[in-house]
Amino acid sequence: MTILDGKKVSSEIKLQVIKEIKVLKKKTGKVPGLSVVIVGENKASKVYVKSKDKMASELGIKSNVIEFDENISSVELIKKIKELNEDGEVNGVLVQLPLPKKFNTWEVLTNINPDKDVDCFLPTNLGMILLNRANIFPCTPAGILKIFDYYNINVSGMNACVIGRSFIVGKPIAAMLTNRNATVTICHSKTKNLADHLKRADLIVSAIGKPGFISEDMVKQGSVLIDVGINYIIKKDDVYEHCDELQIKKFERKGYAITGDIHKNAYKKSLYYTPVPGGVGPMTVTMLMYNTLQLFKKKQDLLK
Ligand code: NDP
Repeated sequence: MTILDGKKVSSEIKLQVIKEIKVLKKKTGKVPGLSVVIVGENKASKVYVKSKDKMASELGIKSNVIEFDENISSVELIKKIKELNEDGEVNGVLVQLPLPKKFNTWEVLTNINPDKDVDCFLPTNLGMILLNRANIFPCTPAGILKIFDYYNINVSGMNACVIGRSFIVGKPIAAMLTNRNATVTICHSKTKNLADHLKRADLIVSAIGKPGFISEDMVKQGSVLIDVGINYIIKKDDVYEHCDELQIKKFERKGYAITGDIHKNAYKKSLYYTPVPGGVGPMTVTMLMYNTLQLFKKKQDLLK
């Protein structure tokens, strides 16, 4: 079994992005711009936004975080998005999800100019993936394919099983694997006999959000295991337990850890696997930077 080292792949991509931005800056006098809009006080979202802002600055991207109080109205929020759409220095606009409950997420997101949809969540951009004509992809699925490319994993002809059908991970990665000639089954919470699908799979992509859910007996010998799940667990009396957000806060000072959906015992049967942490996770923010650069190049008409 080989560990698919997302940190390593991510570092290589970051170096490429830095290099390319330097060259483009010399050529055009400009650098890519990313604007991140965050509403409310979601602690996890704030941490994510901070790490995006930090990485953007490190890579030479002009980053701008716009924070709003939860009391802002939809109209005001959309007005800001429209301003960013018009701003020539902004290439990517990202609205951090989840938005507070009072907002209609799709109403807000669909106001982003599709040419600045750096997360690649808008119908036009997701549709281009279905048509196999896309040049921008949602960050987590894009990161998974970069890992495959780095390790020369050819998915053509593989039986792939994607668990989870969100528009952020499950559905786009299923389409992207299909475009790479894998035979894809999408499973979800209503799937009957999930284990039967998994046991047939040469490649499993799990995006469920349940710690250790996929056990050793559910996977085939020699399979490729891609674990997208990020689950917070705590260690208590030497036993790791799953817990919700409030419990995490409560136990924060006593220590907590992150684990994936795939049980560590299943790794032994795999040919390749992504660990959690250190697998798919590090790729996601890096691909956001990569996407910002792609949108910048597209605007400058420099995309090959
Ligand atoms: P969602 O909650 O939107 O989707 C979860 C999916 O899992 C749903 O389709 C759901 O089915 C399915 N599911 C839930 N329980 C089961 C079950 N028992 N059997 C089969 N399928 C099940 O999550 P996301 O796609 O946004 O994220 C999934 C996980 O990936 C989370 O842990 C999240 O934190 C993590 N994540 C990690 C990222 C990274 O960078 N590594 C980036 C994005 C997400 P149904 O549709 O029927 O409800």
